[in-house]
Amino acid sequence: MSFQVFGIAVSRGVAIGRAVLVASSRVDVAHYFVSPGETQAEIERLLRARDAVVHELATLKDELPNDAPHELAALLDVHLMLLHDEAFTGGAIHWIVDRHYNAEWALSAHLEVLARQFDEMEDAYLRERKADLEQVVERVLRALAAAQGDAPTPVTPRDFGGEDPLLLVAADIAPADMMQFKRSVFRGFITDIGGKTSHTAIVARSMDIPAVVGTREASRLIMQDDWVIIDGDAGTVIVNPSPIVLEEYRFRQRQSELERARLGRLRHTPAVTLDGEHIELHANIELPADAEAAVEAGATGVGLFRSEFLFMNRDGELPSEEEQLAAYKAAVVAMKGMPVTIRTVDVGADKPLDRLTVNELRHEHVLNPAMGLRAIRWSLAEPSMFRQQLRAIYRASAFGKVRLLIPMVAHLSEVRQIMEAARKVQQQLTDAGHAYTRVELGVMIEIPAAAVMLPLLLRYVDFVSIGTNDLIQYTLAIDRADEAVAHLYDPWHPAVLHLISQAIAQARAAGKGVSVCGEMAGDPVFTELLLAMGLRSFSMHPSQIPAVKQRVLRVDTQRLAAALPRILDSEDPHAVADRELAAARGGAAAVH
Ligand code: PEP
Ligand code: MG
Repeated sequence: MSFQVFGIAVSRGVAIGRAVLVASSRVDVAHYFVSPGETQAEIERLLRARDAVVHELATLKDELPNDAPHELAALLDVHLMLLHDEAFTGGAIHWIVDRHYNAEWALSAHLEVLARQFDEMEDAYLRERKADLEQVVERVLRALAAAQGDAPTPVTPRDFGGEDPLLLVAADIAPADMMQFKRSVFRGFITDIGGKTSHTAIVARSMDIPAVVGTREASRLIMQDDWVIIDGDAGTVIVNPSPIVLEEYRFRQRQSELERARLGRLRHTPAVTLDGEHIELHANIELPADAEAAVEAGATGVGLFRSEFLFMNRDGELPSEEEQLAAYKAAVVAMKGMPVTIRTVDVGADKPLDRLTVNELRHEHVLNPAMGLRAIRWSLAEPSMFRQQLRAIYRASAFGKVRLLIPMVAHLSEVRQIMEAARKVQQQLTDAGHAYTRVELGVMIEIPAAAVMLPLLLRYVDFVSIGTNDLIQYTLAIDRADEAVAHLYDPWHPAVLHLISQAIAQARAAGKGVSVCGEMAGDPVFTELLLAMGLRSFSMHPSQIPAVKQRVLRVDTQRLAAALPRILDSEDPHAVADRELAAARGGAAAVH
């Protein structure tokens, strides 16, 4: 049966493929393909892990003390029965043989199928056996992890004659888990939870693959293996489409690929407006390896290196100074002399350090994480960790142009503490004989308090970077990751526009650098508005650079600026901007 699910469009384009349902708690399970020649060995690996768990449970049962509760032995019996059930292993083996999934993936895919069958059972006792099944799968996954050395070499579907593209469907994906998908087999994402600027959405955009979040129930409605179309522009998901709809979307997919290729030709064109203003188009990156894509897309620097991603997926162990130095140096070297703005770690809110999903974090661990010990607050609460990161950043400056950016600043006292820490670190490096050069200091403007008192902050810093994702969240009191209030998350809100415009004007008047590195900077819808406000430095996902550059090439900033007062004075800035900025547009087509 064909049906549609509606969500929030977060990453452009069309993806067509088969649904792979993954439980949020198992998103970190390895997903890769094994070659047809290795499927038998992979089945044996799965069976060995199963046998190891059988052995473990049987031993546990044998060794139960006589006075152990009777329920414990009964529970072990249920688990052993499940492990011996042909349907249990047979189902997983099907995914290995037919789809070439690795054992871990096959097992969790089969668990999803079985879990749904359990959910639909009338009998409450049987329904509750789902928890046993999950525990058993968990044990087998652990046994597979323990025998990691036997794992096969991943192959791509192309290596064995093609495979339908796969689209990941999950209730929720934590940003740390999204990182694992950067080089994954998935060609699109659908989640129940999330907003346009949730970090899960941001990482999907950085991967430049279509994604729809905030669907509320996609992971319940879509079945394993369903054919699915993700329309990343409209925010819709079409499940089991008719052949006619499928054909229409295939056509649109080809069109958008052509459009991308066309825009790609702008890569080496300098971003200069019709009236000769040079515009910096910098890249936002999450890992040093992303710097390559940044150069490839024509970025003239890194405006935001979200260093927190180096701190994730590490089982609680933080990266050492040397590890951090290696990562920062790699990005600096890859940017070939262009500036690299490294933001100190911004964990908390929807970016927990460990594998907790956003919901778990929100409901179980911290009352209000977005307003809690996040970003610079966390860094200042962990001074030795903070100084270690600063040392690595300063040492990276010996290899190119490095700028230091501090997230979530709201107090002058924080700036003073940061400067004091930076002074100490420089002294330590000098004493230890480590090379470093001057590093400009910048703060992010993401809390309204910082925007309102910008003139005071500007006395201390070299530059500011406006983080519109959080600035909107805190100005409008809208959780950026909460789909329930996503309709109120409005970059066009007059209060937001006034804060951004004022911040740009004040920084420029003070002769300090100012850029925008929130998602607004990479959305071509806002390019002209930000130029009208006087912004000359934008930082965005590398994939957005060509589309933004195309806008830059077509406009005259003086004509745009003349329209700004009417937009800011309006009760409906969006409508007025559409009208006024269209009238001010130069109209010269940049790409032919
Ligand atoms: C922002 O808040 O706009 C920003 C760029 O930082 P992050 O999205 O990582 O919170
Ligand atoms: Mg932010």
